[in-house]
Amino acid sequence: MPIKKTNEKVDINKRRIINGEDADVIQLYPMKHKFAWDAYLAGNANHWLPTEIGMQKDIEQWKSTSVLSEDERKALKTVLGFFTTADSIAANNVALAFYKHISSPECRMYILRQSYEEAIHTHAYQYIVESLALDEGEIFNMYREVEAIYNKDNFILSFNEGIFNPNFKTGTLENDQKFLENMIVFSIILEGIFFYSSFAVMFGFQRQNKMVGSAEQIQYIMRDESQHLNFGINMINTIKEEQPELWTKEFQEKMIKLIKRGAELEITFAQEVFPKGIFGMNSENFRQYIEHIADRRLQRIGLPEQYNTPNPFPWMSEAIDLSKEKNFFETRVTEYKVGGALDW
Ligand code: FE
Repeated sequence: MPIKKTNEKVDINKRRIINGEDADVIQLYPMKHKFAWDAYLAGNANHWLPTEIGMQKDIEQWKSTSVLSEDERKALKTVLGFFTTADSIAANNVALAFYKHISSPECRMYILRQSYEEAIHTHAYQYIVESLALDEGEIFNMYREVEAIYNKDNFILSFNEGIFNPNFKTGTLENDQKFLENMIVFSIILEGIFFYSSFAVMFGFQRQNKMVGSAEQIQYIMRDESQHLNFGINMINTIKEEQPELWTKEFQEKMIKLIKRGAELEITFAQEVFPKGIFGMNSENFRQYIEHIADRRLQRIGLPEQYNTPNPFPWMSEAIDLSKEKNFFETRVTEYKVGGALDW
């Protein structure tokens, strides 16, 4: 839309996450959605690169025949199989759907940062695959071959279809609800649920002092991802305030159903990929864990808890609380210190 030549200043009250009236997406100030700016600054402070993390010990352990069991090798490869494509799906959603339709310049600012972080995550998986000399064709194609991964990815992608259509526009009740639905599926289910049994497995490795370089990569990713989730939740809750007409009883019930469906897909993934359990986490524990985090996500966007299941992995609990505490992974010993070292 062409800009209007005028001395009139932008009215901050007209700024909206979506559908900002006369949305001026160029002026950062005056700022309305402060949470986005805070997220942007936090993202910069947490900057890291995969190549800064030592992988030598992982390479030795992977080559050795006495460190990792067959189940552990399979688990590592399968979580990588999920991760390698999940962040590409995330990047597409953020860059192609969020960036286009979000009318708050400060939110767009963070979306640019988030897009780069998704690229760093995909780089991290590539770096692990390369360091361990895994078969790239096997790992990167798993989302098409392993049914439990395929089902998760396909579920997410099915919600992109309408939003990615070049003719899609926000501004009607139906389309705004569709966009909000995409946001909830993306932030709450993909970023908030679908990564978490894989995160738990990687911290399982770390707790055994195995594949600690790979686990450290994932630890950095998890810190970024919890910021992405936090940002997504803030946007969802702000849209609810700015356009309360979208948040109907019917829409809420639909969202609860979708989140429960997402939790089921993640539970099935964990149970199929780790049928005998791993590092003392059995398939019932994974169910409990996923139900527990699904409840937390529901709660954060003002929907009722569905499971009331206690957390079987208390050592993961600080992560799902999006804790800002320092030394968050107590077992971690590192001298790694750059601008983005792991201070929460
Ligand atoms: Fe993300």
